[in-house]
Amino acid sequence: MKLILTLLVALALTLPSVFAAPKPNIIIIFCDDLGYGDLGSYGSPVIRTPHLDRMAAEGLRFTDFYSAAEVCTPSRAALLTGRYPIRSGMCGNRRVLFPNSKGGLPAAELTIAESLKGAGYATAHVGKWHLGLYEGSRPLDQGFERTFGLHYSNDMDARADLPKGSVGSPTPPHDGWNVALLRDGKVLEQPADQTTLTKRYTDEVVNFIGEKKGAPFFIYLAHTFPHVPMFASPAFKGKSHAGIYGDAVEELDWSVGEVLAALRKNGVAENTLVFFTSDNGPWLIMGDQGGSAGLLREGKGSTWEGGMRVPGIAWMPGRIKPGVTSELAHMMDLLPTALSLAGTPPPKDVTLDGTDLAPLLFESKPLTARPFFYYRGDQLFAARLGEWKAHFQTQDGYGRPQAERHDPPLLFHLGRDASEKRNVAAQHPDVLARIAEAVNAHKAAIVPGPPQLQ
Ligand code: MG
Repeated sequence: MKLILTLLVALALTLPSVFAAPKPNIIIIFCDDLGYGDLGSYGSPVIRTPHLDRMAAEGLRFTDFYSAAEVCTPSRAALLTGRYPIRSGMCGNRRVLFPNSKGGLPAAELTIAESLKGAGYATAHVGKWHLGLYEGSRPLDQGFERTFGLHYSNDMDARADLPKGSVGSPTPPHDGWNVALLRDGKVLEQPADQTTLTKRYTDEVVNFIGEKKGAPFFIYLAHTFPHVPMFASPAFKGKSHAGIYGDAVEELDWSVGEVLAALRKNGVAENTLVFFTSDNGPWLIMGDQGGSAGLLREGKGSTWEGGMRVPGIAWMPGRIKPGVTSELAHMMDLLPTALSLAGTPPPKDVTLDGTDLAPLLFESKPLTARPFFYYRGDQLFAARLGEWKAHFQTQDGYGRPQAERHDPPLLFHLGRDASEKRNVAAQHPDVLARIAEAVNAHKAAIVPGPPQLQ
């Protein structure tokens, strides 16, 4: 009798773990310089993105999703740490890391990958890194068990004799940049054959899904494109209505389709959150080889909406109710959301700047209203509260040496004037006062990290 009781107790104790749902997988697909207006589901009339449009139709499409920075390096630091880049020191006058930079994402910063690895996840980085070359900052030092891709942007380490203007050319030389393709820190190919990158990144992710389908996994797929120099594989080159830029985006769309198909094929689609977004707005000075921010003003490098508002699509079939949301959300929300899905508490003694999106994603609950702050380098240029956005300084993304200061700030209503054309500051001193209060509270709580981009 006693033995039977003991057995029953033991069985009761093991039952919850037998029936508990497996921890959800998480995939972040991160494009480089993809604009707000470059996808069919975001209004592009020329670039065909059927896979992303289907992902958006099956998932939740954000109209007001933000990058935490106007350029590559700080944006990536913010995504992986859930913190404004000023806190990690991953922003500044030099704007991004260069091949000769000594700094990088500090080892002490806790990334999504580190937290999820601690929670039993298999972790992989595929694609561009751009967060540092040296010990402590590299993918394998920051929580990724595997890494396959480029150290930095595909336009860095240019050949000395490369003709001026090659980077924005519709037909850039395939061997013009000496950037290397690496696996787990070892060079596989230098220069990397850029026409093959999207395809090879995709194969890598599809294989990883097949291999790890039994265990929870986290994949950070940071595409090289559509950052210039622009390349597409032979299957996509010359096929879009939008030149080589459109070809590159259509290949990225194909890639998303392959990843989602692999999740379905391996039976893990319903247990995988996929989030698709971009690191910053389109690089407009590249002309035909730069994308479009749609009706938003300016692009990459600026704190106008086109520089930082980007596509954001969340997908988890059967869990996320399909729809469109105008809730303000940003990439620093992805870390708290991932930890919440993994059932892991947020790290102690770390100030996070995001919020858990799970109630919005899975229960259609509105988020608590909060301000959003637009930094250019380490300077706060603008702030949004509700539909209102105030600019304290403005500067085009590229080409102007100095910022213009505004006192009183410029004020725009992003609902009625998404293109930021009509300054209504004079009519709304009360709104400016409320925004000033939010900015003061934010500034008082910011402790800048040691600058890494010198
Ligand atoms: Mg970028």
